[in-house]
Formats: sequence, structure tokens, C-alpha cells
Amino acid sequence: ATCQLSGHVDDCCNCTYQDVDSLNAALNPLLRQLVRTAFFRYFKVNIYCDCPLWPDDSMCALRACSVCECERREVPEPWRQDEEEGFCNANTCAAEQDGAVDRTVDPATALRLLNLKGWRGFNNPWMAENEGPEEYLYVNLLINPERYTGYAGEHAHRIWNAIYNQSCFHTPGGPSRPAGSSASDASPPAPASPAPSTTGGEDGWCPEKRIFYRLISGMHTSISAHISANYLLDEDKGLWGHNLTDFKMRIGTPELRYRVENLYFAYLFVLRAVMKASPLLARYEYVTGLSEEDEQTSQMVRKLVTLPELASACPMPFDEGRLWKGRDGSLLREELRGAFVNITRVMDCVGCEKCKLWGKLQTLGVATALKVLFSSSDCEGALPTAPALSTLALERNEVIALVNLLERFSNSIEYYRVLSAELQAAEGAE
Ligand code: FAD
Repeated sequence: ATCQLSGHVDDCCNCTYQDVDSLNAALNPLLRQLVRTAFFRYFKVNIYCDCPLWPDDSMCALRACSVCECERREVPEPWRQDEEEGFCNANTCAAEQDGAVDRTVDPATALRLLNLKGWRGFNNPWMAENEGPEEYLYVNLLINPERYTGYAGEHAHRIWNAIYNQSCFHTPGGPSRPAGSSASDASPPAPASPAPSTTGGEDGWCPEKRIFYRLISGMHTSISAHISANYLLDEDKGLWGHNLTDFKMRIGTPELRYRVENLYFAYLFVLRAVMKASPLLARYEYVTGLSEEDEQTSQMVRKLVTLPELASACPMPFDEGRLWKGRDGSLLREELRGAFVNITRVMDCVGCEKCKLWGKLQTLGVATALKVLFSSSDCEGALPTAPALSTLALERNEVIALVNLLERFSNSIEYYRVLSAELQAAEGAE
């Protein structure tokens, strides 16, 4: 059941909500399995960085917010070894990688170099470059699941506000909101705002800005779905489960359907990036020192990117070729790049470690999808053509973030389906 979602997810592509549901039914089990592997479950992240926006910022003291850091010996041995050998970091690394890719004719050799050197996602034009002291630590995502933490109220709203209030979302020609709604649908206290149109055309937002808004809103929906589906029901008993009241409030009513539509859109956007990067992902070296498991990881990735349902249900999930076309295409692209980079900075201010961990992972995942789809000419400002995959270099953290992000969105679509049905049954029974 598609829970009252009908029609096409986006006007550019031929995918209906039903198509996405059947595609996701095939993808979801594979993705869930993939993110449990050693390669995909360890993410290196800086969660103790300072917030550049609000000097008074502090972290919440809620137990559910804390993150459990990996013990050194748990970190895959080859990754530790690379670090002990002091491989390059940040910009020098990016420069060397560029050189390595440009000089290398054989893409397999280039990929090996990248596997060795890059882990951090610095060679990504959509990410802020952190110049402060680096306190990155390894986190096992499986023991720090994305779920209800209790982080809410003014602090959390300040973050969502800072995200939705990026200038690109309310300059003339920016993503419009229906009459009567606030500048950001995220403004607290938010007036009951009707859903922003997601069908486009009539509202004056150019397609690029609408796409950005839908991506962010879709990510927000996914975070909400994870909270409602993994809620602390009884603290004393340590009981976690579905909270239908919370679900209804966040995404479960017809007025909030636009949030779910944006989730489907964001899912297709990221899926398109994964499909586009599939030659690289299929050849990537998933090396953690556990050779048998690493081989299974490679096989699973290859299975994922060649799944028959991809070609049959939604062969073209998103059409990036239609963007940045007009006279001001490159200016617009710079504006949106700047806005997204700011959003990645806002993540440093999230006041709950676990939310920050998942917020950072997901923004790096979106940044990676953007890089894959629009990266043929990062530095020159030239308009993108089809990205030349031989020059696309993904660092380890980017690969981990991209696949985990797709899994998050995929789970959220599944949570929406299941919790909608439970809600319907519960309300029918009343
Ligand atoms: P919020 O989700 O805070 O939303 C604020 C306002 O944004 C709403 O009033 C509405 O106007 C608008 N809005 C809501 N959803 C959408 C949407 N999809 N599209 C457009 N506009 C929307 N809490 C946890 O318990 N666990 C987590 O893992 C977690 N991770 C987080 C990660 C980040 C990066 C951030 C910023 C917050 C996170 N939180 C997490 C907090 C959580 O997102 C909510 O802020 C909190 O639960 C309070 O929810 P709320 O109902 O007040 O609405």
C-alpha cells in the first residue's frame, strides 16, 4: 500500500510512488545487510568540534544523546595502519589525489591510491573545510543507532531554522511557500503552514532551488521517521518501539504528506547518484583486513548496483542533466553550493552527539551525491556535462556516507509504509 501517495514523485522522471515502493522492497534488505559490514559500519567523524555560529552553544546532557566511541583495536587494521604511517590529510591530500587520478590511465590503480589516502571527504566541493584542530574519532554506527534521543525544543529548532533559512531559500525566485506560511516552514513557533508545493511550476521557484529544498526536507523527514519508529517507550524497562502519536505529529497526517513526498524525492536523488557512481563502487576496494567479509561486501555492492528492479521499476530515478541550464546556471550553482556548505557547518552546532553524528553522516552523504551528479567541472564553474567517472574520486568516508544515507532513506520509506498501516488500523479500531 502506498498510504495515499499517488502519481509521480517528480515531474522530470517516470517513477511513481508505487514504483519506488516496489523498488525499495527489493533494495531495502540488501542495504540493511550492507551497512552491517565492517567497511560500512565504521564512520570517522568529528563530533567534539566547536559551533562556529553561536558562542553560547552547549551539548545536551541526555544519556540517549551520547555516542560510544570505538576502541582503537576495533578500528579496521589497515585503516589504523594508514593513519600510523601518517598519510596526508585535507587539502594536500586532495591535491595529491587529483594528481594521482589525472596521471593514471588505469582507473583501478587510481582507486587503490584513493583507498589508501583519502578517508575524510575533503575533496568534496559541497562540504565545508574544517580548519580547526581535528579530533576525529571512529564510531561504530551499529551501536549508536539513529533513534529517539530527547533532543528537541529551542535548540533543535534553532538548527532546523538555520538550515531552512539559508538565503537561497528565500531570495526572489527561491523556493516559494504557499501564501500564509512562514519564511521557513521550520520557523518556530511555526504557524500551521500548508505544505509547500512540491509539484513546481506554479510557484516561481526555479527547479534547482526546489530540488535543494526537497533534498533537505526529505532528509528531515527521514530523521523524523527514524525517531518515531525507534522511540523510547518505557525508560525503566528500556523498551523501544513505534510511537504512532509521534509519527502522526511529524509525518503521519495528510497535511504533512509533502514531507513524505520530499523523502521519496530525496531517495530517488541519492539512488541516481549511487547508480551513476556504480562503475566506481563496483570496483572500489572494500578493505578492512577481514578478507572473507570484504569479499562479501564487494559482492553485495555489485549485486546492489545491478539489481534487476533498478532497471525495471525506475530506470531513471532523477535527471540531473536538466539543471544549471540557463544563462545564470553557474551563478546559481555557486549560490546553492555556498548554501549547502553552510548547512554542513550548521551540523557542528547540533547539540546532541548522536544527532550530530547522524546529521554529519547524512549531510556528507548528500554532499557526495551532489558531487557524483554535478562534479565534472568542480573548480572551473563550467556547467556540468555527464560526469566523467574516470575523474570522479570518492574517499572512504564519502562511500560510507553515501551508502548509509541511501539505507536511511530506504528504511524511512519502509517505516512510513508500516507505521501508516499501523496508524490506520489503530484509528479504525477506535
Ligand atoms: P522538528 O523536527 O524540530 O521540526 C521543526 C519545524 O520544521 C517544524 O515545526 C516544521 O515547521 C518544520 N518541518 C518539520 N519537518 C519538516 C520537513 N520534513 N520538511 C520541511 N519542514 C519540516 N532527535 C532525535 O530524537 N534523534 C535524532 O537522531 C535526531 N537527529 C537530529 C539531527 C539533526 C541534524 C537535527 C537538527 C535534529 C535532530 N533531532 C533528533 C531532533 C529532531 O529532528 C527534532 O528537532 C525534535 O524531535 C523536535 O521535533 P519537532 O516536532 O519540534 O519538529
